[in-house]
Amino acid sequence: MLALTINCGSSSVKYSLFSQDENGELNMLARGLVSELGKENSAIKYVTDKNTITAALDRPGYREALEAAITTLVHPQFGKLKDIGEINVVGHRAVHGGDKFTGSVLIDDEVIGKMEQCIDLAPIHNPANLEGIRQARSLLPHTPQVAVFDTAFHQSIPMHARVYALPYEYYEQYGIRKFGFHGTSCNYASQQVCHLAGRALAESRIIICHLGNGVSVTAVDRGQSVDTSLGYTSVGGVMMGTRCGDLDPGVLLAIMKEFNLSVKEADNLLHHQSGLLGVSGVSNDMQTITQLALEGNPRCRLAVEMFAYYLTKYIGAYAAVMGGIDMLVFTGGIGENSAWVRSLAVNKLEFLGIKIDAQRNLADLAEDAIISPDDSPVLVAVIKANEEKMIARESVTILEALRVPAGFSGVAC
Ligand code: ADP
Repeated sequence: MLALTINCGSSSVKYSLFSQDENGELNMLARGLVSELGKENSAIKYVTDKNTITAALDRPGYREALEAAITTLVHPQFGKLKDIGEINVVGHRAVHGGDKFTGSVLIDDEVIGKMEQCIDLAPIHNPANLEGIRQARSLLPHTPQVAVFDTAFHQSIPMHARVYALPYEYYEQYGIRKFGFHGTSCNYASQQVCHLAGRALAESRIIICHLGNGVSVTAVDRGQSVDTSLGYTSVGGVMMGTRCGDLDPGVLLAIMKEFNLSVKEADNLLHHQSGLLGVSGVSNDMQTITQLALEGNPRCRLAVEMFAYYLTKYIGAYAAVMGGIDMLVFTGGIGENSAWVRSLAVNKLEFLGIKIDAQRNLADLAEDAIISPDDSPVLVAVIKANEEKMIARESVTILEALRVPAGFSGVAC
């Protein structure tokens, strides 16, 4: 079984090829990235266990990017396939499924129509995802294709956590509600931490801190997302690289009034000028800010401390929501690499049973790892984000569900 995953963003296309072994485990054979779509300096980078190849591309669109990806996969010297028809299923990352999708689905024209209706909810991401799907269907017309939605994992969030305390019509008639993001990453991280710890998902209360450029904290109660820090849009919750996170809504009104800001300007302020960048005044990049904070820059230090403080509050709140916590996961670029943020985030949470082993936390973590001491009531782990593997897993599951059982004649008796 071979699965290709495709993640079409607004300016890049990522792809990965997985093969399923006899135990059902998916192993990555190759991955690639086409960057700077549509630009003169666009390039493709293709990586296998043995080789890394790069090549320049001239202003590729999604179709040209996918054609280039296919060329690498069937390359006579570096490719992992003889023919592209060997791929059994293609899994696409789909950012926003709105209320229309509660899980991954086999793509057909009806699914595409419903995805088009969700464009307003993710105007940058969904059109890119859709274009990737259209081009991939045309390039691989005989291969089943599956859409894996980031929002689907959070469809289990109960009403009391999903509805905002606005007049109810806004929920009922206009669909203003918590959707959540990073669902595919949370789904993967919660499965992976259980695998690492040898525990059952169905018996575990897990908090996932997905800390990348976008940030979310999610409460996963026995396999179900029950609350998450991102909501209707991806600007709330924990402060992020350039996004403000939770804010007294009155602050926005006051700033708009005082500075006579248009909606577009206010949008730009909250999404692109706030968060780590806004507080530090120098960068949206946690690695840079950490370095400057250690060199004595007070606003960078404040930005790191605020970031960790948001995390502490969300972890505490979600432990309360689930009536306790069994496992805490850090994932994403900051979660995987910043021992300082991890330790700052949990250093007041020992009362919840959350402890970190200093040496384990500071070790160079090349693989998924447990960083709590062996006697810690709560297991704390660092899990490498791997949305691609989750997309491949979901796609294979959908494909297998479609398979006609052996001995089935297709004739009702
Ligand atoms: P994205 O959400 O775009 O996928 P990533 O998951 O790659 O982003 O995370 C990017 C963030 O991770 C950046 O803020 C970056 O500075 C941070 N990061 C990466 N390595 C480190 C490190 N060693 N220490 C602190 N932050 C790091």
